[in-house]
Amino acid sequence: MLQTKNCRECSKVRFLLVLLLLGVCGICHALNLSNAYLSPRNSERAVRAKTQFIILHTTEAEAKSSLRKLSRNGEAHYCVDRDGKVYRIVDRRKVAYHCGTSMWSGRRNIDDVSIGIEVVGYHDRALTSAQYAALKELVLLLQKLYAVKDANVMPHAQVAYGTPNRWHRRSHRGRKRCGMGYATPSVRKLLGLKERWLVDPDVKARRLTVGDDFLAKILYAKNADSLLPYRLPGAQPSKKPSIHAKEKVAISPKQAKQVATVAKAVSKVKAIVPKAPTVKEVFIKKGQTAWDVAREAYNAATTIYVFPDGRKVAGDQLADWESLVAGTKVILGDENASPVQTLTAGTHPRALIGDALTAVDTWYIRPTGGRLQGSQLTAKHLQALPPGTKILTGYAMCGPVTSKNLPSKLCPTRWDAPDTYYLFPGKPLQAASAIDMKRVPAGTYIFYKN
Ligand SMILES: [Zn+2]
Repeated sequence: MLQTKNCRECSKVRFLLVLLLLGVCGICHALNLSNAYLSPRNSERAVRAKTQFIILHTTEAEAKSSLRKLSRNGEAHYCVDRDGKVYRIVDRRKVAYHCGTSMWSGRRNIDDVSIGIEVVGYHDRALTSAQYAALKELVLLLQKLYAVKDANVMPHAQVAYGTPNRWHRRSHRGRKRCGMGYATPSVRKLLGLKERWLVDPDVKARRLTVGDDFLAKILYAKNADSLLPYRLPGAQPSKKPSIHAKEKVAISPKQAKQVATVAKAVSKVKAIVPKAPTVKEVFIKKGQTAWDVAREAYNAATTIYVFPDGRKVAGDQLADWESLVAGTKVILGDENASPVQTLTAGTHPRALIGDALTAVDTWYIRPTGGRLQGSQLTAKHLQALPPGTKILTGYAMCGPVTSKNLPSKLCPTRWDAPDTYYLFPGKPLQAASAIDMKRVPAGTYIFYKN
């Protein structure tokens, strides 16, 4: 008798517990989380001091290779697969390297103040319904945890910027189109986000120029939805009337005018569908430059140009950029493009970095190891730079390394980032990924993206 009573009470308690758990987890019940790709970089990453932004990306590659790369380099906090499954990569409290060269309202290094979510897919294709649903849950959860306002949930393309190169004399927005669709009203509605930025504060303040007109329209134009080169899951098919409909339905002159406007908009969209690097091989079209198709990987050793006559040249071996005729095939490598430029014989650095020539955040590293800051150089100095000089733009320097001031202390959030470089005394510049961190000699200087 007593036993029966106990059991009844037990089941009552159990029932209440289940109810309680369901209530607490009401917000996360739809998330399917996995730790299968936790990054080995977690232990070495610094804890973020604050979290102002949630930055959304598109992987521009399929799930398996993306997850492996993100995990290996600790390049995101989460990754959302096609089926909506969410992989944890880097501990949400720590720094992940997902933004690269970035700025918003004058604040640089957005990695230090943001959470990065990668979504398996491409910037110019729709995601799956499962991905939009999972992303909505995840973003909401993180917004509540960190009090991030709707407008500050932004695509990577919106905060990334490029330092000057041979096609852009000034620092510019448009280095990437990563995740651009997340800025449009229709996608934001799907994600439950009510606000969006209407202007680019860095372009407005003239810190940056617009380097990609199409991207600027997607990010800020009122009609951004109609410019998206894809239809969202569940969206109505095109409003263009079928011939069948035309025959059967009589329409008023006002409706006819509306139909004509829509048809005109549709044909316009077709004309400006972006031709960005979504596949590994891209052909240069008439009027396009290497930057248009390869962006910062244009001069990477992993980018191969195949000319119409069959000649193959690696990006870092090519000197005559004006000879890239339409029809040249560009094969894009897997790895991140190197941000380091190399001066070749007979080239003035202005051709490589435009107006960043004498900037405080431009650094010239001689082949023998000496470092020179852009702001200290005269026209004479610039002329005299030897071939093989490495050039970094948008970089800050810290150091020297001593037995007390180790790299992780000097440069806590970027000491082992893929775009961080080390200058050992008397040695050429080396990537952080290429050196043994236990053997960094005293007197070493560290250059990090800022
Ligand atoms: Zn991205």
